[in-house]
Parts: sequence; structure tokens; C-alpha cells
Amino acid sequence: MPHAKSLSAHLLGAIAVWIASVSDAHAGEALRLGTGGAAGVYLPEGRAICQRYQETTGKACQALSTGGSIYNAQGVRTGDLDVGIVQSDIQYAALRGEGEFYDSGPSPELRSLFSLHAEAFTVVATPPNIQRFDDLAGHRVNVGNPGSGHRATLSALLDIRGETEGIYDVAAELRPADMTSVMCDGRLDAFFYVVGHPSQAIDEATRRCNAHLVEVAGADVDALLTRAPFYSLTSIPGGTYANTPEDTATFGVRATLITRADVDAQQIYDLVAAVFDHLDTFRQAHPSLSTLSPEAMVTAGLTAPLHPGARRYYEEKGLLPATGQAGK
Ligand code: GLU
Repeated sequence: MPHAKSLSAHLLGAIAVWIASVSDAHAGEALRLGTGGAAGVYLPEGRAICQRYQETTGKACQALSTGGSIYNAQGVRTGDLDVGIVQSDIQYAALRGEGEFYDSGPSPELRSLFSLHAEAFTVVATPPNIQRFDDLAGHRVNVGNPGSGHRATLSALLDIRGETEGIYDVAAELRPADMTSVMCDGRLDAFFYVVGHPSQAIDEATRRCNAHLVEVAGADVDALLTRAPFYSLTSIPGGTYANTPEDTATFGVRATLITRADVDAQQIYDLVAAVFDHLDTFRQAHPSLSTLSPEAMVTAGLTAPLHPGARRYYEEKGLLPATGQAGK
């Protein structure tokens, strides 16, 4: 798969630079949690996790703004991050050394904590004639910054269609925080984002520059779902955004929290307890967290084995049956 290899090499180069700057700036004892860009859900969600952890343990926790899922998986793997929020498809790919992780190989040391909100593969466009994913070819699109999960999910969908980013007239690499303003300036026709809804960036694009949501459905999406167990069909409810009164069909993943096997079991237990013991408060951190349920959080979208510190908490609370594998 030559395209996947070259994209992967490109991403890893960019990631190395990011990681170097994060580790210089945040050396020390604080728990380092990788999140996402300023326009997304990962950052406020990560801040809420850190806040609960600090309040309950008195220990420091830094929610770092990063390039997104690929960056976070790579950072956890190298030790520059202790925990990271990643899309469930990226967790799967990182563990197995597939897709963007083809060159770096499998990461059997990755462990999961719990899953978070549902994220939909979302396409936002301004030209009225772009109504379906097929209509995007030949247009100026934002494929996503290197290190983002949405860039990798788009790549998986294009792969299954036998296409590359070359089908677009422009394939920009803007960060989520910049894509709306560039679109509203008339320099971009569409952007991709794998994000929880409602999203501030999409609300702004639909209200300020008359953008609408684009349907992503059909045989290619069905084929993607058959190949990969962590994708599911979903829809963005009509009326969530301006100019899109009907439901928009697409597919989605879950946001998940990962760490490494060698991260201290008590630290992970405390982090899990900080969230689950205060779930009502945590659900208020962002509207897309409002429907989180403990039962779904301990299983949905988790392909890496549970960290023993997380497993101990779930077994103590009766969320999972005892297995004798829980950490002390
Ligand atoms: N799903 C996006 C990514 O993995 C981030 C979305 C967000 O920040 O809410 O890069």
C-alpha cells in the first residue's frame, strides 16, 4: 500500500517535532494527557479529566493541546505522554501496526482505560452542489493536520474506494481551529472532521458562511464497516446545525483513553476513579458527553487490553466480573 506508507512517513516526521516540543515544555512529575486542537471536544474533555484527578488526588495533571489521535497514540507509545485520547479506529491501528502505524509496527504495550463520547465522520461544505461524499472530488478540501485522527479516517475511506487525496483540487492541512475561518473567507469548499456533536467549529461554519453537512453513505462505507469492527453507522440529527434540517447519514467511532502497560497501576486507578466517581459533573464538561454511561464506557471501542489499574476499579464497582488480572 504505497500511499499509506508515504503518508505514514510524512506524519511521523511531523509528530517527532511536536513530541520534542511537548516533552521540553512539560518535563516533570505531572500526569501528561494528550488531547486535541482548540476547536474540538478532546481539549475541554481532557481538561475536565485532569481537573477531577487533581481535585481527588492533589496531584498535578496537564491536559496538553496536540494534533489529535495519531499524535497522542505516538506520544503514549514513546513515553512523551502518559495517557492520550484517541479515536477507536486509531487505537486499533496503533495496537496492530496498521494504517498510519504501518512503518512503526505494532504497539503491544498499549492499554485502554475507557471510552468517551461518540464521534461522527463529518463533512462540511459550502457549495450547494456538494451533497454527497462523491461530489467532493475536484474541490478544495481540508484533509486535516498531520497527526489528526480525521486525516487517518479519511485515508482509510479513500483507500477502500481506491482513491487518494490527489482527487481533490486542493488538499489543505489546516488545524481544526483555522479551517472554519479559511472556509468562510472563500478559500476552502469543504472540510473533514471526526468529532463529537454539537461542535463549535461546525456551528460557526454553518451560521457564519452558510455551510451544510454532507452525507457519507453507500457501498464504500458498508465495505469499511465490514472490514473494521470499530466503525458503526450513525447520523447527525437534523437541526443540530443551521442549513441542515434533515438527519445526515455517516459512520462513526468512539473517543477512547489509552495508556501504556508500564504506567503505574495506582495512578491509572486514581484517574479512572476521578472520572467514574464524579460522572455527573464530568458529563457537564461538554454537551457531547451528556449521554455517557459507565456500562458502555468500560467496553465500547476498546481493542487494547484494559490497564490493570482500570480493571481493578471496574471489578471493585461490579462493572466487570472479577478475572484475577486486576492491578494492585
Ligand atoms: N477526532 C479528532 C482527532 O483524533 C479530534 C477531535 C477533537 O479534538 O474533539 O484528531
